[in-house]
Amino acid sequence: MNLGNYLFRKYTQPQRLLLVTVLMTAVAGVTALVWYTGGIKYVYSHSMYIPIAIAGIVFGYKGGVIIALAGGLALGPWMPINTATMEMQDTINWVYRTFYFLAVGVLAGLSSDTSRRYIQRLKQFARRDPVSKLPNRKALLERLEEILPRRNQDLDSCCYLLVTLSIDNGMALRSAFGFSVIDSIIDGYARQLHEMPNHQPEVFRIHGGQLAALFPGTKPDDVDVLMQACLKTLPENANFQSLSVYVNRHLGGVLIDNHENDPQAIMQHAEIAIARANDKMTDAFVYTQEVSESIASQLALMADVTDGLKRGEFTMHYQPKVALADGKFYGVEALIRWQHPVRGWVSPDEFIPNAEHSTLILKISEFVLREVMQQVSKWRASGIDLQVAINVSGHDILQPGFAQMLFELLKEFDVPGERIELEITEGTLIEDIDEVVAELLKLTEAQITVSIDDFGTGYSSLQYLYKLPISLLKIDQVFVRYLPEDKGASYIVSAAIVLAQKMGIKSLAEGIETQANLDYLQQLGCDYGQGYLYSKPLSADNFIAWYQNYQPICPKASQLAKESTANDTSMGRPL
Ligand code: C2E
Ligand code: CA
Ligand code: CA
Repeated sequence: MNLGNYLFRKYTQPQRLLLVTVLMTAVAGVTALVWYTGGIKYVYSHSMYIPIAIAGIVFGYKGGVIIALAGGLALGPWMPINTATMEMQDTINWVYRTFYFLAVGVLAGLSSDTSRRYIQRLKQFARRDPVSKLPNRKALLERLEEILPRRNQDLDSCCYLLVTLSIDNGMALRSAFGFSVIDSIIDGYARQLHEMPNHQPEVFRIHGGQLAALFPGTKPDDVDVLMQACLKTLPENANFQSLSVYVNRHLGGVLIDNHENDPQAIMQHAEIAIARANDKMTDAFVYTQEVSESIASQLALMADVTDGLKRGEFTMHYQPKVALADGKFYGVEALIRWQHPVRGWVSPDEFIPNAEHSTLILKISEFVLREVMQQVSKWRASGIDLQVAINVSGHDILQPGFAQMLFELLKEFDVPGERIELEITEGTLIEDIDEVVAELLKLTEAQITVSIDDFGTGYSSLQYLYKLPISLLKIDQVFVRYLPEDKGASYIVSAAIVLAQKMGIKSLAEGIETQANLDYLQQLGCDYGQGYLYSKPLSADNFIAWYQNYQPICPKASQLAKESTANDTSMGRPL
């Protein structure tokens, strides 16, 4: 803290008492100094200006006047000009000196009061959002700092709930309605929060498109109800210039209880809660310790992926795909496997979805493409010519240079484009559909085929499906697993198969585990299948062994037909 801050800060009552004592002692000290150095005729009396100026600065002009009067009297009528001769000073001397002391005390006090007010104004300025005039993030951090010690003393009455709101379609709103739209929506939301019945939250604008509201006296049991009340108060449709506009907003909640003691950590928890609400596509999410731990362990795992790629811990496994009607093998799906030195086998479900939110997925896909091309080239050299499906995400496809990298790998390993199929989950395709279509067309021109993975689990499949240059729909295993018993699943699967037929493309069912699954799928007219009934994903070597020994598994109907044809022939054979 610099001297200015130290002098102008607010003092507590005991600190003020201490300062008064120090200043009075200084006045007495200067008086003694003047006496013992020979009296008022020497220069030491000027030392009195120091406690007077300090009193003025610290306590304002009133403090300056009091210490000036005390100093003036201390060096007043009883202080001789010369202590050796005890010659006394004229009245005009000490009155005139006291007048000077008073002038210095008042001036120091007034200038310090002005500076203090100016600093106060600057501080207020730094703690307010200039547009909405609401207190800002800095003010919230200071407020949290203020409430934490009090809360620790009296937990029950002073539990707080911090609710943060984030507008996540700010870019779209600004490009449609101009820059003032966000300010106007934030103003409206802040007003609605202030007017919430039965609550008096303190409202802060912590970022351009973010508000925070601090609710005092919230008990853990009240949190959900209060979050719901906030959602109602802050609706998705906001008014802007007599229009109703859609605001994609998420709320995050943090209960400031006994475990919280750092304002920065509370803000971080609020951000985590908002991010979680966004990820999970829910309107609101309340922070818990477990969420934070799982995020921390995910981040550590993501860091390990990069190292693991360098250390060669990743390999590819291959799961056979067959034509359902005759059980004939036609290709494989390449699936990544990670042997972590400490955690052991890590499932792709644990790292792929998170990697898809970052550029890490590009590193993974680069490894997968190279590894698979190399394998396909080896198999082709040993006379096994098959089609390999590779899983990629929509982010991969949109990455500049992705198509080029794929073409170069095809060339490097001398693999024809039609031997490669790309499986893309529908969820990762929704954004930038036109760009995705343009990129996919480049790939299909090189005879690479494209299929939609996990069909049925995405959000808006049908409206864009017809635009995509795809040749296969892969029906997700969550529907296949329960066939034929589950009516809902069987409606979805049969609808997907009919849709594929109408689009003139093929359908494949994932996760076929039982003969009953297979028989039903064949009845529905599904073209291809894949699942544990045929084989689990296998290492490249184990796949060769499987391939050489595979006896086609057929649906019961075709087996019966085959058997009956065989019987008919034997019966019809001439004796
Ligand atoms: P997916 O693309 O839907 O892959 C099918 C998953 O189902 C695989 O899990 C496979 O082992 C499993 N599976 C296949 N048949 C059956 C069955 O009959 N029953 C059951 N219960 N499961 C079966 P896996 O290998 O754990 O992969 C999980 C997901 O991770 C994949 O789902 C895919 O989305 C992703 N993934 C795997 N490898 C890669 C990769 O190389 N790149 C990318 N981007 N994603 C990958
Ligand atoms: Ca897949
Ligand atoms: Ca799938």
